[in-house]
Amino acid sequence: MTFDPQRSLAMVRHEFGEHGGVNMSIEASTTFTVMDAASMPELFQGHRGPEGGCYLYGRHFNPTVYVLGRYLAALEGTQAAYCTASGLSAIACTLMQICSPGDHIVAAETIYGGTHALLKEFLPAKTGVHTTFVDIGNNDAVAAAMTDRTKVVYCETLANPTLVVADLPRLAAIAHARGAKLVVDNTFSPMILSPAQHGADVVVHSMTKFLGGASDIIAGAVCASQEFIVSMMDLHTGSLMLLGPTMDPKVAAALALRLPHLGLRMTEHSRRAQAFAERLAERGLAVTYPGLPSHPGHELLRALANEGYGFGGLFTLDTGSKETAFRLMDILQNEHRFGFLAVSLGYFDTLMSCSASSTSSELSDEDLQAAGIRPGLVRISIGYTGTLEQRWAQFAEALQKVGLL
Ligand SMILES: *Cc1c(COP(=O)(O)O)cnc(C)c1O
Repeated sequence: MTFDPQRSLAMVRHEFGEHGGVNMSIEASTTFTVMDAASMPELFQGHRGPEGGCYLYGRHFNPTVYVLGRYLAALEGTQAAYCTASGLSAIACTLMQICSPGDHIVAAETIYGGTHALLKEFLPAKTGVHTTFVDIGNNDAVAAAMTDRTKVVYCETLANPTLVVADLPRLAAIAHARGAKLVVDNTFSPMILSPAQHGADVVVHSMTKFLGGASDIIAGAVCASQEFIVSMMDLHTGSLMLLGPTMDPKVAAALALRLPHLGLRMTEHSRRAQAFAERLAERGLAVTYPGLPSHPGHELLRALANEGYGFGGLFTLDTGSKETAFRLMDILQNEHRFGFLAVSLGYFDTLMSCSASSTSSELSDEDLQAAGIRPGLVRISIGYTGTLEQRWAQFAEALQKVGLL
């Protein structure tokens, strides 16, 4: 049977609260007692751990955060997972765990701006790990960029904001042939894509987006083999343990309550985005959405995606100029209450931003051009509040006002 994240999540052991509550209790302690003094060294030596119900210290493992990790592992179909204080810390700790000074990363040129800055500026300066950026849709370019020191091929499932679809099985084959790991950021497509099922070794998430769903929590996750997660938590050599981007247990408990309806939410985000994209395309507008047959990655995404969750909640519209983009977004927010002029994505209301001058502004003009992020490109994370027809009427009217319809 093919993998289905919703089914997998439903099969993971349900954690009840201390008094039989239907939801798990929050373990607010930062330190944990042992039954006898002799147990303490065993914990420090790693002979006993959370699998056996033995906890040491909150930055290492906390029971509530540990349960959320089990849910994330079920969602992605990996052996293990661990949750972090932010998406970027999950990414940074993953890369620093795998790479040592002198090692090399091959990364997609269109990635989240913060990740781009991490790879381009921070890692080379602070760790001596260098990155070659390539067009991730070009398998030959990826293969050609690999060196003997390449430890990671890094990409996002759906690139931000160009929505290029990564050919995960091919990328995994290229990485594995050279002994490198494929690390995939699945922030844009939880439920829709399960990268570990297509060869990814590590799946990272910004839980701040769709997983959280309410734009109220910054959080991240690393999903991988048990061996890799344990290595990140090692008391002496683990990046998560020693850099310390620990998730607060109260945050973990809140996030655990968002996962049961993640599938419903993704399905509705996708249904709305698909309808908008089709209507914009019918009217000849420059819309990019992987659910449109005209999108270059459409067939690939259809082949890789889990059935029933659609093609994602984001589309972009090239309005032609920064001025038109700004006017359109101003009207949509301030006159029509259609959505919010804000970065981020995966919120229940619609969020709109002009990528070139916001989330991708870390990129130089040349990088922006190479990545195809034009100045008038508006990225829209479509929400599910209101009705579809109400929202479409608002959108169409705003398009008329700026002369695009
Ligand atoms: C937001 C985002 C991140 C960073 O996550 P934070 O939770 O803000 O640290 C990484 N990757 C992608 C694709 C994102 O959208």
